[in-house]
Amino acid sequence: MLLRQNRGREVFLLKRDPAKFHIYTFGCQMNQADSDIMTTLLRNEGYLPASSEDDAGIILLNTCAVRENAVERIEHRLQHLKGLKRKDPGLLVGLSGCVPQYRREKLFDDFPVIDFLAGPDAYRSLPSLIAEAASGCRRVSSLEFDISETYVGVAPSRNDSLSAFVPVMRGCNNMCAFCVVPFTRGRERSHPFGSIINEVREISERGIREITLLGQNVNSYRDPETGMDFPQLLDAVSREVPELRIRFTTSHPKDMSRSLAETIASRTNICNHIHLPVQSGSTRMLGRMNRGHTIEEYRAKIDMIRAMIPGISFSTDIIAGFCGESEDDHRKTLELMRDIRFDSAFMFYYSVRPGTLAASTMQDDVSEEVKKRRLQEIIDIQSALSADLHHEAVGTVVEVLAETESRRSSGQLMGRTETNRVVVFDRGSSSPGDLLMVKITGSTSATLTGESLPNY
Ligand code: SF4
Repeated sequence: MLLRQNRGREVFLLKRDPAKFHIYTFGCQMNQADSDIMTTLLRNEGYLPASSEDDAGIILLNTCAVRENAVERIEHRLQHLKGLKRKDPGLLVGLSGCVPQYRREKLFDDFPVIDFLAGPDAYRSLPSLIAEAASGCRRVSSLEFDISETYVGVAPSRNDSLSAFVPVMRGCNNMCAFCVVPFTRGRERSHPFGSIINEVREISERGIREITLLGQNVNSYRDPETGMDFPQLLDAVSREVPELRIRFTTSHPKDMSRSLAETIASRTNICNHIHLPVQSGSTRMLGRMNRGHTIEEYRAKIDMIRAMIPGISFSTDIIAGFCGESEDDHRKTLELMRDIRFDSAFMFYYSVRPGTLAASTMQDDVSEEVKKRRLQEIIDIQSALSADLHHEAVGTVVEVLAETESRRSSGQLMGRTETNRVVVFDRGSSSPGDLLMVKITGSTSATLTGESLPNY
């Protein structure tokens, strides 16, 4: 450990350890799950997680290419790493995940700070890429798709939280016009049923209380051996670990089936919440986006599910200002939001992703000013809807899984309802990990407040 003087103060400089790594994760839950897999693969080869970037000899950015601003954040981080590397030329910098798959070796020219690249199917090569880079052979990459790669047998290194992600499939065979995922993650492939069951059993034994089954399009799950589909998998998982709460994401509306709704309805430990991205309320725009369904079909599926599972909540994704979107298309999106009353939404304005269908065949013809105005209208409606739905929950009694202490007070806990609403409540004698009944006494657009009912 080195010491130096800085404006009269002694400052400790941690020495970088070439055997320690630090991973920054950008993007979705799939990327978080992938970072946990990479951690295991590196640990298996003798590398250790660093306490922070300061003592890491290897810094890895696990990247997301879905939105332009995510890519900008990664570029910003690379600038920062350039400064670190100037002071410490032995530092190795790698990029994994979607951005290297998509921008490939050109990244080496754009960002000379990068030493190695690993695509989403190449994490098993990370130790050898690092070894090569460390031996002076900078600019090494592994970017081939491998349709057989599901990382079966690699137990993800999860942190000590009460919930865990369990990937069940990778890749996507859909070709939504705006989306880069089919080009960065390749074709769909599913994990074997047996390995998923073993994984959830092990998770339960570790005291984790909630799992989320993950995939780009979970409805496309097919057990490679038996052909078992996603509703059957979900049912089997819920029976294997009845003490765990179970969530899943993401569902594609065109593949959302009655049998999946029946499974959710029949199993009490599967949460009554579905994330069902709609993207636009206009059938014309859904056609341009190549989503494979109409808005009438989307509405009919929501109606069917609500009839089968009273009280179920829906969240969604919405894109404002996709190529060719008119004011009338936009109005239809606002109308859909008011009709469906989503609990929450991920809302963005469209940005061109090079390589996608839209980039090569459509004009990005909605001005930035109009995109921003439409997005703001979407956000305003969603905020009002969330506030209304939360207000309507006041006075009800809901089951909450306590997750952590509230940020504001150690006398309060924060948890989630099975419909995925955040609740802050006086803790009484309860602790994180407890499943308890809470009476809702107040609300904002983001949070519910309440009091626990220990003898309910
Ligand atoms: S379903 Fe569409 S939006 Fe989702 S990952 Fe596949 S291509 Fe992208």
